[in-house]
Amino acid sequence: MASPVDELPGSALATPAGEPPGAAPRRVFLETYGCQMNVADSELVRGLLAREGWVVVPDPAEADAILVNTCAIRENAEERVLGRFTQLLQHKQARPGVQLGLLGCVATHQRERLLERAPWIDLIVGPDGYRDLPVLLRGGTDPRIEVRLDRDETYADLAPDLAPGPRAFLTVMRGCDKFCTFCVVPFTRGRERSLPAEAVLEQVRSAVGEGKREVVLLGQTVNAWRHDGLDFGDLLRRVARVPGVERIRFTSPHPSDVGESMIDAMAGEEKVMPWLHLPLQSASDAVLAAMQRGYGLDEYRRLLERIRARVPGIAVSTDVIVGFPGEGEVDFEATESFLREVRYDFAYLFKYSAREGTRAWKIEETVDEAEKGRRLERLIALQEAISLERHREQVGREVEVLVEGPSKRPPGHVHGKTRDFKTAVLPGDGIEPGALVLARVEDATAHTLLAVPAATAGLGASALGRSKSEPRDPGRSDGATPR
Ligand code: SF4
Repeated sequence: MASPVDELPGSALATPAGEPPGAAPRRVFLETYGCQMNVADSELVRGLLAREGWVVVPDPAEADAILVNTCAIRENAEERVLGRFTQLLQHKQARPGVQLGLLGCVATHQRERLLERAPWIDLIVGPDGYRDLPVLLRGGTDPRIEVRLDRDETYADLAPDLAPGPRAFLTVMRGCDKFCTFCVVPFTRGRERSLPAEAVLEQVRSAVGEGKREVVLLGQTVNAWRHDGLDFGDLLRRVARVPGVERIRFTSPHPSDVGESMIDAMAGEEKVMPWLHLPLQSASDAVLAAMQRGYGLDEYRRLLERIRARVPGIAVSTDVIVGFPGEGEVDFEATESFLREVRYDFAYLFKYSAREGTRAWKIEETVDEAEKGRRLERLIALQEAISLERHREQVGREVEVLVEGPSKRPPGHVHGKTRDFKTAVLPGDGIEPGALVLARVEDATAHTLLAVPAATAGLGASALGRSKSEPRDPGRSDGATPR
């Protein structure tokens, strides 16, 4: 199984609600797999349990409850989950009374088979059932399963326990109404619902109060956000007015939900970063129709042209699936050619893999694994070359980097993101995480800019002397490896 994207540090908290005074706090270990939405859900769960007096510990061997927040989108999700739980079972065997809990999309999607194969899992809680976790962990109901989808649940009143670092991921809408034929999300996370603007703004203010400099607004189709007559562009403008916010990003927007208001906000608000992740999936109209993506290639192309005209220099990234049923060589070549035309800054490239419960699950596959692999390799090679060119275009420029922490290599360096979400690595002497550094790009690979500091500290966009009409440097974080 892949490494968890989030293993949580411990913190000292009070006695759990409902426990007698003087009782030892109960300890929870929470491990997260999957997309950024899952990471944000784990922060929500951590905040919720902390409020109930639970202490988060970094090691399952210390925990009274071991929770795994999982993702159904991953290939072989059921096998991966079972594999991980089989490893964790040792803690329950060594210390009877330890509870094992499964959270997230897989809980909604595959609970029956999982329970059949791992009857020793104590609780199963879907993405809309977290509010019940404290009660479920007290063993108050039987069976301890809460996987109902709730059309209204937004957790708007719950404060997440944000992970360390200068960036806060804040969920502004949940669920999805699009029902792309390959996707389980509408079935595992339910229908679209938006947090009220004021709840979002409160979370932003709170994140800034914790020292965050950048907020990333999250939603499965984040730009479908609507509330009380406001649209997503209005939300961006309001977030930009929160004192102390320096950078705003959002992911992932759906092409069909991009409106003029959103483009206006991207063009007019200096704090909205010049990066857009605009999922394409395929450049064949026939495949897009079979996927029920809700747009055709021309529409997508014109949309991108409009955005690039309004936000010069904007970086654009995308998602592509190869080998969807019915994708012929011509369809694939259309995608290849479109990648060449658009020159995305980076792309998340996937082989199609059928997910049970989706509409495409019932469609007979027409592209065998070897061919899917061949197509994927071709796209990876192409995108790597384009990403390298895109990165090399930055050499000699000055870019603003929000430093996140030490870089794995080379030693003594730090890494961070530019305004357009490129990863930059620079010598780290005296540079703390959270610093905004003006750096000059000296070299580039397909994935990284190698830079040296030009100046540090307190740099907003205005301090860089950049006007709105000048190209700004272009940026996604969802656990996948971009190409
Ligand atoms: S827009 Fe399509 S791919 Fe994205 S979450 Fe919704 S159904 Fe899934």
